[in-house]
Amino acid sequence: MSDSFDVVVIGAGPAGYPAAIRAGQNKLSVACVDEWKNRDGTHAFGGTCLNAGCIPSKALLESSELFHRVHGEFATHGIKVAGVSLDLLAMQKRKAAIVKASTSGITALFKSAGVTGLQGHGRLLPGRKVEVTADDGSKRVLQAKHVVLASGSIPMELESAPFDNDSIVDSWGALDFTSVPRRLGVIGAGVIGLELGSVWRRLGSEVIVLEALPDFLAMTDQQLAKEALKHFKKQGLDVRLGAKVTGATIANGAVTVRFTDGKGDQSAEVDKLVVAIGRQPFTKNLLAEGTGVELDERGFIKVDHECRTSTEGVWAVGDAVRGPMLAHKGKEEGVMVADLIAGQFSEVNYKTIPSVIYTAPEIAWVGQTEEQVKQAGRAYKVGSFPFLASGRARAMESTAGFVKVISATDTDEILGVHIIGPLAGELIAEAVLAMEYSASTEDIQRTIHAHPTLSEALHEAALAADKRAIDFPNR
Ligand code: FAD
Ligand code: NAD
Repeated sequence: MSDSFDVVVIGAGPAGYPAAIRAGQNKLSVACVDEWKNRDGTHAFGGTCLNAGCIPSKALLESSELFHRVHGEFATHGIKVAGVSLDLLAMQKRKAAIVKASTSGITALFKSAGVTGLQGHGRLLPGRKVEVTADDGSKRVLQAKHVVLASGSIPMELESAPFDNDSIVDSWGALDFTSVPRRLGVIGAGVIGLELGSVWRRLGSEVIVLEALPDFLAMTDQQLAKEALKHFKKQGLDVRLGAKVTGATIANGAVTVRFTDGKGDQSAEVDKLVVAIGRQPFTKNLLAEGTGVELDERGFIKVDHECRTSTEGVWAVGDAVRGPMLAHKGKEEGVMVADLIAGQFSEVNYKTIPSVIYTAPEIAWVGQTEEQVKQAGRAYKVGSFPFLASGRARAMESTAGFVKVISATDTDEILGVHIIGPLAGELIAEAVLAMEYSASTEDIQRTIHAHPTLSEALHEAALAADKRAIDFPNR
């Protein structure tokens, strides 16, 4: 096998593997090196997202939601069920099968795009060389015209509650519980805390979530955040805001977590504690001396808007660089870089990256929050539509939440769309497309939406921005 490639990608997560595939599609010779190892010691492509993130968490979210609905909702539909019980091992087996199908799919995709997939540790050497160390310690050096760094991120550890990977775990550990913890503690009411807190709550855990900030989902439109907190509290998530964790002690199989909040010093005893306080870029042993690739003060690889690092011919994408730590953001960066390397035009529109929190109700948004628009001093209008007034949502027994459209008063351009409710993560795609095309509220108003669908809620919210909603009184 040749040791010389047009492109060598380090990391085969959702940022690295699309970069490799697109480079292959662009008729460049490409190798992708990845070191991910599963708990059983086997290698797998796909990175955090496929192995320990997006995919396994969504599998468990789906299963746990079904379990919850059997208990809480089927009777309302007139469906009587008896003897429902949980087989967590079967649920975990299903999750593992989905992960396996997804990760082995990448091997097939590499093959069809002509990508050489290599398992081992990649280290950038000066002169666009990549040293690959295999499991047995053997090394080979690849020469590349371009190197793409896509080494991803790892969970942040909390000094006052360090991981022991049994009682105090990260998100990967929390996806792999083999029994439902009677009491679960979660530190951090961010995306992971809420998604995994929801999974275990629905499966029967008592869940306490400790969030340091005084505001819930501080990065989200606060009207949405308020609505979300109301539903999560109703579901039994005990969310404590402004809670500073001061320590955690493990004894007799339980964790006592100590924290301070508005009520003073407190403690909670739980069976498992999940620490989900954010993730940090992973660049351990990635860069040899003299590569010239710079990191910023938080450890992210420094890049420009086209993901060029400080060294010519070396690019970096995904969680290891600035911007939201999202699989689809990394994917678009990887694809952009592979197209730029091939001399084609490409760009990522960082203003239209959607965010989704896969709880029930689901939360999704794109663009600016009302708080951001207000702060920017721009005159704006808002249109909202509650799912309670949607025929399809009523038929689905999923009427919680609403759609909110924010547009500029002067140009009518859509500035942000915020959705909490059924399939919000799917519905947001229309808003992303609209914003990608700089659409106006009127554009959505004049677009025909099938009836009865959830997407009509977006249509009606756009109409409501001009007090022209049909299916809900205009205010
Ligand atoms: P990673 O996925 O972390 O992949 C990096 C890869 O590079 C890994 O395989 C790593 O082993 C390998 N690597 C690192 N260094 C080297 C080296 N020197 N040599 C060889 N290989 C190396 N995002 C979403 O958009 N939607 C979601 O629903 C979602 N859910 C999530 C749920 C959880 C529980 C978690 C933890 C994350 C979730 N994310 C989600 C975030 C998403 O997983 C990340 O944004 C995404 O995986 C980042 O992709 P990446 O390719 O940059 O890095
Ligand atoms: P996050 O940044 O979403 O949330 C972390 C939360 O922990 C924040 O609310 C923060 O204020 C809080 N926090 C920080 N330090 C704390 C402390 N000492 N005590 C209590 N609370 C503390 O991070 P995450 O939930 O760990 O997720 C990591 C990344 O993974 C995110 O960037 C996210 O984008 C990505 N992710 C995305 C999805 C999705 O797209 N659905 C799902 C899971 C993860």
